[in-house]
Amino acid sequence: MSVDREKLKALLEWYRQEVGDDLIAAIIVNREGLIMDAVSGTSGKSVEEDIVGGVSALVEPVLNRITKEFSSGSFGTGTFDTDEYRLIFCEAGAHAVFVTVLDAIAMVDPIFPVAYLTAEKISRIFDGRPVSPVIPNIISSQKDDGIERKVDKLQKITVKSGEYAFKLILGGDGAVGKTSMVHRFVEDSFKSDYKGTIGTSIMKKQCSFDDLKSSVRFVIWDLAGQTQFRRVRQTYLANAEAGILVFDVTRKETFENIRQWHDEIIKASKNISLILVGNKIDLVDERDVFHEEGEGFANELNISYIETSAKTGENINEAFKMLALQMIKRFIVTEEV
Ligand code: GDP
Ligand code: MG
Repeated sequence: MSVDREKLKALLEWYRQEVGDDLIAAIIVNREGLIMDAVSGTSGKSVEEDIVGGVSALVEPVLNRITKEFSSGSFGTGTFDTDEYRLIFCEAGAHAVFVTVLDAIAMVDPIFPVAYLTAEKISRIFDGRPVSPVIPNIISSQKDDGIERKVDKLQKITVKSGEYAFKLILGGDGAVGKTSMVHRFVEDSFKSDYKGTIGTSIMKKQCSFDDLKSSVRFVIWDLAGQTQFRRVRQTYLANAEAGILVFDVTRKETFENIRQWHDEIIKASKNISLILVGNKIDLVDERDVFHEEGEGFANELNISYIETSAKTGENINEAFKMLALQMIKRFIVTEEV
């Protein structure tokens, strides 16, 4: 396989400049765990041998674990924290994985979309497809002043379909079926016994609407069993454009806790588009929350309501499409036909 090394280098250099000070290293690893190319944050030169050695020793076990967890061998994207570093793993097509090593106190949220886009470009380079050098400017300013924020919003509003991936989060008590919904949606599978995912598991999926000639890309953040940690939760919930509030129709208390989830999410991501989902409707005999109650509460929150079963797959695609339509209405300039 011949890979355009020059293009890879140029892309890594662009990435280094875009991410800035928090970058320790960016590494392209092939599926056998061998380093294809790397750049270090400060110098911009190729990473020194010993740094590469050190980082790859760190990366390898995590990479192994992540790839094993996803039966398909494709894991989308994941983050992982060590004492010294924060790592972002992005699948870059069939042949490579793109690893970003950040300072331990770096914010992953603003960097993640850029890592994701860069990984897509790496994948194109590996496949020998054309790669556009232009990447939309989506790192939002760390400064919290109104003007910067408005500029950022405007850039999002004018995006064309397919150019921007929206961050989607899931809120709701443990064991209501959030992870199951995501897996059903992304891989169309259901496992009754999930192993805990490492850190935050991030997956991508496109929702296409042929009739609207439009599509929405979601980057779905699923937080694995760490919702009790406030710090983790806030990073997870912040800067999201789309969210699903999930409760279990067989457990009333999960329904009653939705308001708290709703308030916390709105606080972290003010302009988020939300829907409410009542999951596990396959458990007909155990139902404890009825359709009218779910719908009534959704009306009160001024959001849409839908009932699903991640087990049978009923309405799972519909739920994500419902949300995707809201994103199209809000952000996307549909191309002229
Ligand atoms: P999370 O903690 O919200 O991510 O919930 P999980 O996706 O890990 O699911 C918790 C448990 O509920 C698992 O044992 C799932 O197999 C089960 N589960 C999830 N969705 C459904 C569903 O729609 N129907 C049934 N019967 N079980 C479900
Ligand atoms: Mg889960």
